[in-house]
Amino acid sequence: MLKFNPANPREKIHGIFDSNIGNLFKKMGLEDDVISGKILCYVCKETISLENFGAVIRNNSELHFYCDKPLCQNFMDNDQ
Ligand SMILES: [Zn+2]
Repeated sequence: MLKFNPANPREKIHGIFDSNIGNLFKKMGLEDDVISGKILCYVCKETISLENFGAVIRNNSELHFYCDKPLCQNFMDNDQ
């Protein structure tokens, strides 16, 4: 599992290079969920894939995923 900093409960992972996204999901134990389309954008509810992944924010115990649409990216910037 990816280790989040407990002192920073609203950590944001953003701007990851494409080649590392698959690895990121693997580390978070979410690889199967991504492959089977279980992860949805927090804003537009579109299925998040390795192609449209924009960012993930940890909001306390919840993970908020965002796709790469400008609308969703703007929303994300206000979600912290
Ligand atoms: Zn979206």
